[in-house]
Amino acid sequence: MIRQAVILCGGLGTRLGSLTHATPKPLLPVGGRPFLEILIGEVVRQGFNDIVLLSGFCSDQVVRLVKESRFIASLKANIRVIVEPVPAGTGGALRYAEDILASEFILMNGDSLFDIPLRLLCLELQRSPALAGVLALREVAQPDRFGVVEVVDGVVQDFADRAPGRSSGLINGGIYAMRRDAVLQLIADICSLERDIFPALVAERRIGARAYDGFFLDIGIPDSYSEAQESIPALIRRPAIFFDRDGVLNVDHGYVGTMERFDWIAGARSAVRSANDAGYLVFVVTNQAGVARGLYPETAVADLFDHMQMELAEIGAHIDDYRYCPHHSDGTIEQYRKACDWRKPAPGMILDLAEQWSVDMSGSVLIGDKQSDLDAAKAAGIDAHYFAGGALDTLVHRLLEISTERGLV
Ligand SMILES: [Mg+2]
Repeated sequence: MIRQAVILCGGLGTRLGSLTHATPKPLLPVGGRPFLEILIGEVVRQGFNDIVLLSGFCSDQVVRLVKESRFIASLKANIRVIVEPVPAGTGGALRYAEDILASEFILMNGDSLFDIPLRLLCLELQRSPALAGVLALREVAQPDRFGVVEVVDGVVQDFADRAPGRSSGLINGGIYAMRRDAVLQLIADICSLERDIFPALVAERRIGARAYDGFFLDIGIPDSYSEAQESIPALIRRPAIFFDRDGVLNVDHGYVGTMERFDWIAGARSAVRSANDAGYLVFVVTNQAGVARGLYPETAVADLFDHMQMELAEIGAHIDDYRYCPHHSDGTIEQYRKACDWRKPAPGMILDLAEQWSVDMSGSVLIGDKQSDLDAAKAAGIDAHYFAGGALDTLVHRLLEISTERGLV
């Protein structure tokens, strides 16, 4: 499973004039938040927990954001900032991260948001061992200020840096799934990914490409930066499906704390994938009194979640985030013995997720197999559906159809 995302944050942003004289472009505010904070959230929620920020210009501000952002601190991810001592270009910057690069990773520009299923891009790379990387493409009407890409049978044939005068074309969306060794061997001290590395790999027919039609916005010019102030907050405000875990996503064998005892409910993984595809946030909210009862340690809950993410990644799916309550008033472990407002039927876990993410609660729904699940949803002010067993994807497909009719997504 690819878990590392590398974000290029070193650009000077010269096209934005005075806005970026003393601020790195990725840190410009969008809807009242630093753009980079939004971008990191979009990546982490898709199951990437190792984030590397390649920074140069005004890197102290990037370091400060990572240190001080409450949102970033609340993410279940390790976030590191690598500072290039001299401007080395988009390729050269990667060399400074050489020691910490994973064998496969995704790489993206820190000044644009391309809303694509990152897990599917990762699968494209993993299914094609001969490729050095796979590029996410976007069809645009006026590709002049972007690099146009010619593709035959999913393999890039030509990679033009800028293409003036065209009326439409597939452009480089600025997100790549990459193999470390193939890229690093071509990198010089100062070089550009777009002008040096990719043309060399394209000449060997080792760059794949896949087109996506998701939202795309590059904040690097004044008009689009201005447009971003409304369009990006609107984009990231999504309805959610809150899944109970035991008895909904996995068979409830009673206090499931290990992978050996974890069995997916029929259709559960494809239900998650369908919710991802439909543009819903997918959350898990689960009472884990097994921790308070001393049946398994709290770390087992996170390990099991990690196991679920890995098995979801195999089909290009992900869970955006989760909450669990380890407490119980009858617990045998002192530190977990208490009544807790996160424990369903209380709505604490749902409300905490809603506070962290931009959730359209009016379009959101909880799926549970107990009355306490339904009561928690009611207390949080969202709809709830009882899962009576059978195939979970059947229920989710029905819910998604209903929601589509109501125009929620
Ligand atoms: Mg349950």
